[in-house]
Amino acid sequence: MSAQHNTESNEVRFPEIPSGGRYELLIGGKRVPAQDGATFACVDPYENRDWGVVSSAGAEDVDRAVAAARAAFDGWRWTPQAQRTQILLRWAALIAEHAGELARIQVHENGKTITEMHTATLGVAGAASFYANLAANLHGETFESPAPDHRGWSMREPIGVIGAITPWNNPLLLLAWKLFPALAVGNTIVIKPSEVTPVSTLRLAELGVQAGVPDGVLNVVTGAGVTGRALAEHPGVDKLAFTGSTATGRAIALAGAQRFARVTLELGGKGPHLVFPDADLDLAVEGLLTGITAGTGQACNAGSRLLIHEQVYDTVTERLGKRLSELRIGDPLDPEVAIGPLASRPQLTKVLSYLDLARDEGHRLVTGGRRAAGSESLDRGLFVEPTLYADVDNHARLAQEEIFGPVGVAMSFSSDEEAVRLANDIPYGLTSGFWTKDVDRVHRLSSQLRSGVVWINTWRVGSFQLPFGGMKASGIGREGGLHALNAYTEEKAVWLGLH
Ligand code: ADP
Repeated sequence: MSAQHNTESNEVRFPEIPSGGRYELLIGGKRVPAQDGATFACVDPYENRDWGVVSSAGAEDVDRAVAAARAAFDGWRWTPQAQRTQILLRWAALIAEHAGELARIQVHENGKTITEMHTATLGVAGAASFYANLAANLHGETFESPAPDHRGWSMREPIGVIGAITPWNNPLLLLAWKLFPALAVGNTIVIKPSEVTPVSTLRLAELGVQAGVPDGVLNVVTGAGVTGRALAEHPGVDKLAFTGSTATGRAIALAGAQRFARVTLELGGKGPHLVFPDADLDLAVEGLLTGITAGTGQACNAGSRLLIHEQVYDTVTERLGKRLSELRIGDPLDPEVAIGPLASRPQLTKVLSYLDLARDEGHRLVTGGRRAAGSESLDRGLFVEPTLYADVDNHARLAQEEIFGPVGVAMSFSSDEEAVRLANDIPYGLTSGFWTKDVDRVHRLSSQLRSGVVWINTWRVGSFQLPFGGMKASGIGREGGLHALNAYTEEKAVWLGLH
């Protein structure tokens, strides 16, 4: 890892993470190797070389982790809420204190920019304290007189053992939305992080142990999809919480259905991003740029399916193409860099296959369209140029499928009705957005767009105060928001006869 950015940036320390580290599973409060001794390598996508060796959990290890979580459940469940809240608040403080280190580990793992990973890590600390405090407000309802000689009330209680399976594109933040509400109300958890980003989750968990999370309440089994499948299919897991691809989400939902496990799924997206002629075009172009390139496009909330009104179509695509071509590509630890490498070799292969497809199908290239090259680090790393295709038909694969790279596709429309029809004509329904100054349109379209999040005159803002999740093939349930605790509790009705 290059040394020039390893000390300070805006007073935040990003300590160097030595490569060659060995990382074991966390089961029942102890670091343990996999029972069969299996390991895998994690790859730094900027250096394009191995930087750590991680234990690969098999079905037996998953079994031990689930047993540890089950054994810890009663103790944690009956721990007074004030104590659970206090432990999580200590954990939140440790995460904030180590945010630079956690951010830098994630950059090693997924190549995202240090600015993005640092902001996300501060969000993890924020989520920990938000849910720690929110859980103190968990309550049921009492009904004075459901029947003359009865009282009735409802209670919320923890579900049991949670299996959390997480992706690589924002490993800690997407885990935080599951982990903290789950633990805050008394569940225990087994986490299976992505094989691309296992080390950041192990380090986060280590801070949890340091904060006083009791042994077995928090377990981490690292490994690839087979480890995830062993967790999803384990009969001892009461709820599955997953963020990842729609295909894997379907497999997890099916595994859960076998035993009626509770399931929340946050899956793929390809957000329609609409520009109307009355919009502030300077702001809209910057918003589209964010929609295509934030997180190097490796984001389920990407807004890269551009629908632009015919009156401003040529102007907007031309200006956007120019802005994309000006972006700085390079070392993700450099705070001036906008586009880091893609996270993994398979991801690079996938994105390049879409660029080949675009060439074969003859889509009009505005800018980019190739693997980035031309310097030692670009040639070595897993880089793709920020890319824009124009005049793409809405039914082309490029317009319908999640590319997960910095690639935008643009098409035009001539009326609000056509814009809404095109926007909704896709299996996904996670995010959508539009740029306009017309208040009637704001209200009409925010109802008509079929997605769990709608952004108006902005893109990609988020907070744990508001729910996040998808309609249609983008998932089931919502994360975040004031109701997130409902997803980690069962509601029970209690009746008392008065005699
Ligand atoms: P991506 O293709 O973006 O990596 P995935 O949905 O494959 O997205 O991965 C998200 C998470 O799901 C990762 O932790 C991965 O290891 C895990 N995973 C992959 N396949 C399965 C499976 N069949 N069952 C459970 N988990 C899986």
